[in-house]
Amino acid sequence: MAQPFRLYNTLTRKVEPFEPLKPDHIGLYVCGMTVYDHAHVGHARAMVIFDAFVRYLRHQGWDVTFVRNYTDVDDKIIRRAKAEGVPAMEIAERYIASFQEDCEAMGLLPPTREPKVSDSIDDIIEMIQQLVDDGHAYPSAGSVWFKVDSYDEYGHLSGQRVSEMMASSEQDAGKASPHDFALWKAAKPGEPEWPSPWGPGRPGWHIECSAMSKKWLGNTIDIHGGGLDLVFPHHENEVAQSTCANHDLYSRWWMHNGLLVLTKETDEGSVGAAKMGKSLGNAFNIKDAMAQFPAEALRLYYLQAHYRSPLPWNNQALPNALSMLARLYEAKEVAQSMGGEEDPERVAEALGADAIELLKLSQGFQERFLAALDEDFNTSLALSHAFEVSRAINRLSNHKKARKRGGPIARLALEALEQVELLGLLTMDVEDFQEEVKDKRLSAMGLSREAVEELLQQRADARAAKEWSTADALRGKLDEMGIVVMDTGGEVSWRVSLS
Ligand SMILES: [Zn+2]
Repeated sequence: MAQPFRLYNTLTRKVEPFEPLKPDHIGLYVCGMTVYDHAHVGHARAMVIFDAFVRYLRHQGWDVTFVRNYTDVDDKIIRRAKAEGVPAMEIAERYIASFQEDCEAMGLLPPTREPKVSDSIDDIIEMIQQLVDDGHAYPSAGSVWFKVDSYDEYGHLSGQRVSEMMASSEQDAGKASPHDFALWKAAKPGEPEWPSPWGPGRPGWHIECSAMSKKWLGNTIDIHGGGLDLVFPHHENEVAQSTCANHDLYSRWWMHNGLLVLTKETDEGSVGAAKMGKSLGNAFNIKDAMAQFPAEALRLYYLQAHYRSPLPWNNQALPNALSMLARLYEAKEVAQSMGGEEDPERVAEALGADAIELLKLSQGFQERFLAALDEDFNTSLALSHAFEVSRAINRLSNHKKARKRGGPIARLALEALEQVELLGLLTMDVEDFQEEVKDKRLSAMGLSREAVEELLQQRADARAAKEWSTADALRGKLDEMGIVVMDTGGEVSWRVSLS
């Protein structure tokens, strides 16, 4: 049986106990990418949050049908195609391929369905026809417009009155009212077009999600997701179209993630704020991020904050997230190194307060971790419990006896940290993680393993020849490069500094 949870609903502006349409099943629709360029870290927030949410739901016994669309017919795609002198569908296909590469690099689960607008034209035309037949839409000069004043509830989701709303950005002489929006756009030379009862043309933006969600999830969706910037007009228009065409409730829950807020790192801390977007020219590609950081660092950056909060972004965001992640893996490594086979309670008694504390945190971990996720998917609180365990592991490891006897408690702590894997974090072997960090950070710093190992060899040779000042100078040089050298028990190891 699927486990209950509570979730904030943008529609009611409250955290409410979730109730599905069908027992144990969740139909989830999330607005996907408009494919006209490489995706950036602003887009990836929604992708990672809903990926983690689906993982959590499935872990809790829910059968989730997850639909995420591709907007492959759009003004921005057409503009880029014109600028490059290639067909619009070539641009769309290029950036769908690019996005699929990014999803794989980020370790995202594939959605159950990934419909494209260009494959859904018949469903879109059918829905527009229904709206025209019912008097909710009207054709005009080859286009079709949704008649906003035919739907009384318009503005309900975004909490606005039509009289106070800004006019729809689509300027057109054929509109009866400034708030009306396009369902179908009459063909223009050089743009992709399909035949329709109103003449050749292409769909407007909003109708695609109404048509695709109906096709794959039926009239009523359990949860509709997307970024907070989509509430108006996109989601408001989806509600109007679907409710009027289907005569049914469109989505039971609306789940919106907060946006990335650009901050500038200065000596006085973070200043300034601007919404992350292409228009600012500050977008950081997922490909750049994945070349420099492990995928789990990006995932932790998003999940350590509450999904509804605005999330500050600056050039320290991913280095900070990587340091946090590395601390979790270090705790895992320390815990794995502890030995002993006694009863954990007895070991805790013998080792004292720090051991008793770790035992207590580990035993109650699963309950606290899931309780945080069950209350509006609070990954921030859930992960703070994991950091608590990792700090307790480190405190215990400072005791000399813990290395030999702390194992039974450490194993319970490791079991606790395994829970975090359900969010797609801490899934790697410690050694694989450390190797990935070395590879990616070295390449980000413009260094090669060979160069580092060459210097380490020179240092080893100097030490063997008892040329201590040369050895020290080489160590200093490595240190300046951001390489930390560790001499432990005659063995030399190294890592990349993450501070
Ligand atoms: Zn949408």
